Amino acid sequence: MILIQVGASSKNKSGKKKGALDFNSGWKYAPAPESKDHIQLKNRYDLFINGKFTEPESGKYFDTISPSTEKKLAEVAEANSNDVDKAVNAARHAYEKTWSRMPAKERGKYMYRIARIMQERARELAVIESMDGGKPIRESRDIDIPLAAAHFFYYAGWADKMDYSTPGAKTKSLGVAGQIIPWNFPLLMAAWKIAPALAAGNTVVLKPAETTPLTAMKLAEIIQEAGLPDGVVNIITGAGATGAAIVNHPGINKIAFTGSTEVGKIIQKALAGTNKKYTLELGGKAANIIFEDAAIDQAVEGIVNGIFFNQGHVCCAGSRLFVQESVADVVIRKLKDRMETLIVGDPLDKNTDIGAINSKDQLEKIKKYVKIGIHEGGVCYQSSCSVPSKGFFYRPTLFTNVSQSSRIVQEEIFGPVLSIQTFRTVEEVIEKANNIPYGLSGGVWTDKGSKIFKVTSQLRAGVIWANTYNKFDPTSPFGGYKESGMGREGGLHGLMPYLEVIH
Ligand code: NAP
Ligand code: MG
Repeated sequence: MILIQVGASSKNKSGKKKGALDFNSGWKYAPAPESKDHIQLKNRYDLFINGKFTEPESGKYFDTISPSTEKKLAEVAEANSNDVDKAVNAARHAYEKTWSRMPAKERGKYMYRIARIMQERARELAVIESMDGGKPIRESRDIDIPLAAAHFFYYAGWADKMDYSTPGAKTKSLGVAGQIIPWNFPLLMAAWKIAPALAAGNTVVLKPAETTPLTAMKLAEIIQEAGLPDGVVNIITGAGATGAAIVNHPGINKIAFTGSTEVGKIIQKALAGTNKKYTLELGGKAANIIFEDAAIDQAVEGIVNGIFFNQGHVCCAGSRLFVQESVADVVIRKLKDRMETLIVGDPLDKNTDIGAINSKDQLEKIKKYVKIGIHEGGVCYQSSCSVPSKGFFYRPTLFTNVSQSSRIVQEEIFGPVLSIQTFRTVEEVIEKANNIPYGLSGGVWTDKGSKIFKVTSQLRAGVIWANTYNKFDPTSPFGGYKESGMGREGGLHGLMPYLEVIH
């Protein structure tokens, strides 16, 4: 039997709420949907190869739907290995004849132009991102799209300063970069990949995820509008087989992949013994640690942001919470109260905190893990919020009574599911936080600077936030240890994997 406690944290014995705003019986925000009137979506998107939208050789197309309505938004082309070949050849030709010969400051100008058009079309991009992927408009509007433009601006600045990137040495571009991205930050991931590659003088073949191709196709339109020379950026849609064809194409010099550890391992095996360079940004299972001296309300807000933000579809999501024993009761109570106020629903509504789960498959995966957690003896608590009947939605969920060996503690769920453990000493929490196959990110909440330095220097994670969470900036490198991948994106570090350094 599956037992889930729903929204009972601040109820008294009669089951009535004691104080917190009850959004489900009475207090509700009026709907505030973002308009879709200014959005132009074609019924069908072809492959963007050599500066033109080109039909796929197979003539096959697949649907991309909105996970919040389950309705079809458009169909996109399925690229086979011959289409990949065309895209790689176009990128090679553009690299040799145009892009690598162009003065670096001219390359920078094109990138600035792309960034400016992205800003001009920010509303349109944000709405399409939320429609296609399910994330709340507040996030796509305030985080994804501005950060994507910021990446282009930042790397445009590097384009003519490459010689300063490696003092005492010269740099050279690599050639054609094959780039494969996931569905959780579709346009942002495209920007993370394309911008440093172009700044360093490379050309690109990019494949977006099957469920979220639309903002990448809009980016193709922007690239056309910016007048980027044909073939410098090619964007091709398809499923895993298309990604594999990019990885295995002999004309590719570098692979940049962001996605699951499982596929990352397949790619690493495929690249072994080749002379292709690669970077892999993979899964995560971050520890968010609250010490008893932390500002508790601020920490609770950070935990909520860290795991429920973007439905938990965040590789660096703070999915494991460690609370110092003396404050565990108060933190868990405040967390449950805060969960009750979160609004799950229409991604286009500006009040929505938690949008739609990206796909039916991902929703099934989350449900499967919640069942596993309960069967393993975890105590499950879910917010009592209402959830739309159509579309893929999941309530914010937390687990207590879990152990270090529980599968929901060790494995990436990639959904709004938090596991909570307690600890007594700094040494204990460091050991537990590190006892995991992943090492992407982490968070520390404490009033003591010395504790921040002690903990952060011993956590095996690429990015650690202190008294905040999920903050990004194009100048700051991002990437993981262990099964979270290799290489860094962002900042100067993110430029290096696209360059050969000549001493
Ligand atoms: P995924 O299944 O690994 O897919 C990622 C991309 O690879 C998609 O475009 C996918 O195409 C493609 N692909 C699938 N099989 C392939 C193959 N054999 N060869 C080449 N490409 C292949 O991951 P996901 O489920 O989309 O994304 C979630 C994962 O990404 C999570 O594990 C998350 O932690 C990770 N992630 C990591 C970071 C980071 O920076 N470390 C950032 C964001 C996400 P289809 O879409 O058609 O399957
Ligand atoms: Mg979609």
